[in-house]
Amino acid sequence: MAVYRILRLGAEILREEARPVPKITDSILRLLDNMAETMYQANGVGLAAPQIGVSKRVVVVDAGEGLIGLVNPVVVTTAGEDIAVEGCLSIPGVEGEVKRASLVKVSGWDRSGREVEVEGSGLLARVLQHEIDHLDGILFIDKVIRFVEQDKGRE
Ligand code: ZN
Repeated sequence: MAVYRILRLGAEILREEARPVPKITDSILRLLDNMAETMYQANGVGLAAPQIGVSKRVVVVDAGEGLIGLVNPVVVTTAGEDIAVEGCLSIPGVEGEVKRASLVKVSGWDRSGREVEVEGSGLLARVLQHEIDHLDGILFIDKVIRFVEQDKGRE
């Protein structure tokens, strides 16, 4: 496994629409594995392929309920509403309140290419929406209601 460098705000690919994956190949499986490794190494709860410079519709998520890897994920239903503080591995040091659906159902392929549905609430719902936004070039800062003052520490 390998750890990728995570691109920061300003990288053009973060603003591009990622391309659908036509089929699961060995390179997609390696991408999923390495993205998971990269996410854990960065202490993140989610990562989208454009964040490591790959324009493919692939995300990994672990919101404390286990690793989920999805290819070509789509939000199929949403319910409720929830405001919470978010950040992004591509925008270190910035946090803000974002309104998201509190429940989502997402469909996509698992690593065997089987169509699966993932339902999430709370943090999992939030992370799934955040990562799928990345695939459309949307960043959480586009949706922030209020930026949160960072603790600047003491001299
Ligand atoms: Zn992000």
